[in-house]
Amino acid sequence: MASESENKELRIFFLPYFIAGHMIPMVDIARLFATHGGADVTIITTAANAATFQNSIDRDKKAGQRIKTHLIPFPSSELGLPLGVENLNDAVSPQMSSRISKGIKMLRDPIRNLIRESRPDCLVSDMFYPWSADVAVEIGIPRLIFHGSGYFQFCAALAEKTESGENDVVSTRGLPHTIKLLRSQVADFSGFGSSFIEALQDSNKKSYGAIMNSFTDFESDYEHHFRNVIGSKSWSLGPISYWINKDFSDKTERGRTTTTQLRANNNSIVNWLDSKEENSVIYVSFGSLTRFPTIQIMEIAHGLESSGQKFIWVMKKKETEEEALLLFLESFEERMKRKEMGLVVREWAPQLLILEHPAIGATVTHCGWNSVLEAVTAGLPMVTWPLFAEQFYNEKFLNEVVGIGVSVGVTRWSFDWWRVSEGTEAVVVGREKVEKAVRFVMSEMSLGMRERVKKLEMSAKMAVDNTCGGSSWSNFMALIHELKSLKTQPI
Ligand code: UDP
Repeated sequence: MASESENKELRIFFLPYFIAGHMIPMVDIARLFATHGGADVTIITTAANAATFQNSIDRDKKAGQRIKTHLIPFPSSELGLPLGVENLNDAVSPQMSSRISKGIKMLRDPIRNLIRESRPDCLVSDMFYPWSADVAVEIGIPRLIFHGSGYFQFCAALAEKTESGENDVVSTRGLPHTIKLLRSQVADFSGFGSSFIEALQDSNKKSYGAIMNSFTDFESDYEHHFRNVIGSKSWSLGPISYWINKDFSDKTERGRTTTTQLRANNNSIVNWLDSKEENSVIYVSFGSLTRFPTIQIMEIAHGLESSGQKFIWVMKKKETEEEALLLFLESFEERMKRKEMGLVVREWAPQLLILEHPAIGATVTHCGWNSVLEAVTAGLPMVTWPLFAEQFYNEKFLNEVVGIGVSVGVTRWSFDWWRVSEGTEAVVVGREKVEKAVRFVMSEMSLGMRERVKKLEMSAKMAVDNTCGGSSWSNFMALIHELKSLKTQPI
């Protein structure tokens, strides 16, 4: 490891985007640079966003790390947003979501000015701030991009696709594995607008390289393809969540502002799990954004109940929840509690803590990349239920390339989570499919998947272990060394 005195000179700014799936892992990365890289780290954010992770920063500071947050005021009143609503996860309607996006765009000038004045040695930026590539070029520092996703999806999204015509099947060409998807499952990001997509591509090219939350033994073919065929520089530093969140409080408080209520909920979840047998509970979660329509919620409930499996199901609250849903959930929850069968967690669960609990035997996941890595690191086979973003590619990777998941059978990609919540009957996954997939993954039928994911769990943990020269550990040390050498030989 580089000596502390050499590291003292490395000042790095982190620019996380205000959406949980990107912000949570980027804060983990920032903490990694301070804790294991000895760097002087500043996370640029807003007050309400900082509140969701400030405790862990304070703990790091107390432990001697040089890490802080720099707060930029969020234009809530100008946009007519309630105070404290500064993250896309807080939006309960599409209108609110577009106002928050607008507010994030308005932060560009103050952040740009701050970077110009402070002149850090390196900028680690979320992909959704393409403008930060130009500031980095302007002041002559490296910009490292963080995409929040894995290699496979990147390669699959860029791969040439051919249509067979038969059942509207699309196949990828030129990848280490040929992947077939229904045309309706192929991600279509044109909704972002062509100029924004061009700006993203342009900022990719201007970046020094990418930090990836992945590890070599998991995605080796695609790490290689990304570097040698697509031609992008990258450092795989994953699984970041496991590497940095060793403290019990970090695991329980990750991603949400800590309140007395949250602590009480977390304790009761852990107590409930403690009373269950090993591998007897399935964890069901669709990430930080998905708000399902009532009909889908009811189908999941019936499917879980008839599977006979114990479960923890995390469900996000919707803007309005009709009387019928509330009544249904009340009686469902009461029945599940009485039978000692299941817990419904409204809003936010301590996911890292739950996944690593011995009582958990598998997960149902929407295939968000963080959840995928967290499940792999916990050695859990998955029922895959992709919805939007790059999740259908992740599903293919898990089920067909690595063989650690089974599909529930979703056939249609949607532009974003709002359309998921407006879903029609055609995209609703019926209770029989839920029951079948849950029974499968919790039974002996999934033994092969379980063995494979257990091996990956070992590899994931070794990747970040310095005592055995782990790949992510070595990549990180090489990156720190390279960034320091750029200080004397600027780009
Ligand atoms: N998460 C959590 N509790 C929840 C929901 C999500 O801790 O109730 C965390 C989860 O551990 C993961 C992140 O939020 O780190 C979600 O990211 P992912 O890529 O899985 O999905 P997204 O929310 O971006 O769709």
